[in-house]
Amino acid sequence: MKDKKICSKCEKKAIIEIKWKKRSYCKQHFIEYFLGQVKKALRNKKYGKIEKNIKICVAISGGKDSLSCLHAMKRLGFNIEALHINLGFSKISEKSLEVCKNFCESIEVKLNVIDLKKDYGFSLPELFEKNFNKATCKMCGTIRRYLINKFAFENGFDYIATGHNLSDITAQGINTLLSNYFIGFRSFSPVTNPIKEFKICGRLKPLFFLTDEENKLYARLNNINYFKEKCEYGLKSPLNILKKHLKSLEKETPGILRRLAFSFISFGKFIEKHKGKSFGICKQCGYPSATNICDFCRIVKNMKN
Ligand code: AMP
Ligand code: ZN
Ligand code: ZN
Repeated sequence: MKDKKICSKCEKKAIIEIKWKKRSYCKQHFIEYFLGQVKKALRNKKYGKIEKNIKICVAISGGKDSLSCLHAMKRLGFNIEALHINLGFSKISEKSLEVCKNFCESIEVKLNVIDLKKDYGFSLPELFEKNFNKATCKMCGTIRRYLINKFAFENGFDYIATGHNLSDITAQGINTLLSNYFIGFRSFSPVTNPIKEFKICGRLKPLFFLTDEENKLYARLNNINYFKEKCEYGLKSPLNILKKHLKSLEKETPGILRRLAFSFISFGKFIEKHKGKSFGICKQCGYPSATNICDFCRIVKNMKN
């Protein structure tokens, strides 16, 4: 950014310009803004006010978003533990586990680890090998979502928090529009509440209103040592392509991502009101499923055959 800008809140030199807000901030005031946006997502009556004593399981991959999310939640005094799933991609998974361990130790947060290979008998590369013609990112997402929810539910957590940011969320929203399956918008909010009878933990997206770049800066300013390598399977996914285009759209039209996100929240509320919640239960594991047997149980069964 240009040299001469001064922080909108003090006399110091600004390090970032938040264009949609028409404000520039120094380090201290940017961190204040960042934490304010996290509070806005989690402690706002409009979405659901999360009290400080509620038990939250923060799912961390080791990347900038989930570690910034964990750091901000700790700083704001939420009752948190972390969870990392080791998916078994030899080097990458070992390194990201190491990053998660070191970071959690440094901020004194308990880290729980699920090891897909040890606990379920197969790694993600083994799964991909057996299902080479299927969408890899979709399978990976199914496994992660299922295991995070199961772990959190069985260990008495009320909510799960993930590091999805504004860029992920708007790309996901557009993807949902493209899928012509609008029920996907039902849970489109920074906070969705638990449904205990269906073994569903509540979901929190603390970074709902913060962009990729803002998370990167927060991580840098707080010396968060995150895992920088990207998953090779995800690079060419439609979501990542959308994110790239959305980034340039935001540059040209500051604030457009926030406006999209707010519209998606309203759309989700509208759909929930008209369609209601309709879940079934997987006959095999008892967790929620739209079909008789859930996608996770199908994947596990297929790996055993
Ligand atoms: P992604 O789908 O990779 O963008 O990840 C979205 C969110 O899911 C991250 O911000 C984390 O909160 C969570 N997540 C991703 N990978 C893992 C993992 N291996 N273990 C635990 N949580 C994860
Ligand atoms: Zn300042
Ligand atoms: Zn199942």
